Amino acid sequence: MKTQKTPFHLYDEKGIRANARELKQAFAAFPDFTEFFAVKALPNPFILRILNEEGFGADCSSLPELLLAERSGISGEKIIFSSNDTPADEFLQARKMGAILNLDDMSHIDFLEKTCGSLPELICFRYNPGSLRQGNAIIGKPEEAKYGFTRDQLLEGYRMAKERGVKRFGLHTMLASNELDYRYFIETGRMLFQMVAELSHALDIRFEFVNIGGGIGIPYRPEQTPVDYRAIADGIGKAYRDIIEKKGLGPVKVFMECGRIITGPYGWLVTTVRHMKHTYRDYVGLDASMANLMRPGIYGAYHHITVVGKENEDATSVYDVTGSLCENNDKFAIQRALPEIVPGDIVVIHDTGAHGHAMGFNYNGKLRSAELLLREDGSIIKIRREETVEDYFGTLDFGALENFR
Ligand SMILES: *Cc1c(COP(=O)(O)O)cnc(C)c1O
Repeated sequence: MKTQKTPFHLYDEKGIRANARELKQAFAAFPDFTEFFAVKALPNPFILRILNEEGFGADCSSLPELLLAERSGISGEKIIFSSNDTPADEFLQARKMGAILNLDDMSHIDFLEKTCGSLPELICFRYNPGSLRQGNAIIGKPEEAKYGFTRDQLLEGYRMAKERGVKRFGLHTMLASNELDYRYFIETGRMLFQMVAELSHALDIRFEFVNIGGGIGIPYRPEQTPVDYRAIADGIGKAYRDIIEKKGLGPVKVFMECGRIITGPYGWLVTTVRHMKHTYRDYVGLDASMANLMRPGIYGAYHHITVVGKENEDATSVYDVTGSLCENNDKFAIQRALPEIVPGDIVVIHDTGAHGHAMGFNYNGKLRSAELLLREDGSIIKIRREETVEDYFGTLDFGALENFR
């Protein structure tokens, strides 16, 4: 590839594949363990293809995400459709593709049946345990979350589904986001196994899988430590033996639908310093903005920052690292200690492989950057070009403007 103008996101194929294998290895004791990559985290077909090659499926929640998964070569029950407030055409498309349908609400049972003419053979419901579980800071408290069925609704929902001919059942939940405590996921597994036991007993149905959702966190800060997959798998294994095996309810497959942990640490936003500004504070002005990475601006999220060639220099200066949007929260870091920076320096923002480019927007006429992939052989390919002004104008009809009086 010839040189690429900054800013761009760069993803590391080797890192993505090695992590995917480590996750699968940790869950090897569970037959048919599947991770359904949450497409929203990094919706790029090259990445989906790589993950599919590693045995992952896709977790989609919109029509474009379903089509993207399909065009990346993922099909049938390798796709789970976990939507909410779902329009009819999305249910139709998911059904047509043979995806696993994960319903967010009781009322969607009737809606789905009317929309598609019948219920599918396999159905999954999303459980919201309400006050029975603590949420975490990013996702909030379950009882305040718009998602999922209550406990009573699950019982009623599976009863309805069974009466209407559904033969195969799954149970899903999604409670955490960016959670670094492995015990949270074990608790979630245990909670789902217990629900499976209660529901199977009450309704005389057999559950084929539980999906513990996504939400495994990544150590954005240098002092944080990564989650140990094996600790999660071991704990869930113990819960499985305690509940599912003891009651003779197996085999129940374990599914997961993480996004962040799968690609987050293997992406970098590479930028160039445009201007330095010294007023009440010292500012580093980058050629990237919130359009390329929203997380610091909207959540105050920490992303580690390094300066190319100055990785081993002392952090002797304190800067606000900003973009060019006319919004004062367009800052990648606030009062961050960094080596002394000059215009032209290459500044690298770490852990942008998930919920990075994907959350980009065009506010203020900012154009989204390219995405590059570092292949295992060391070559670099462009897997999405940068936007142009023509893209920005793409939804406008200037022809109609000619005649507009
Ligand atoms: C966002 C989301 C995920 C992925 O979350 P991560 O924090 O990226 O792991 C999984 N499932 C559902 C339903 C989601 O909305």
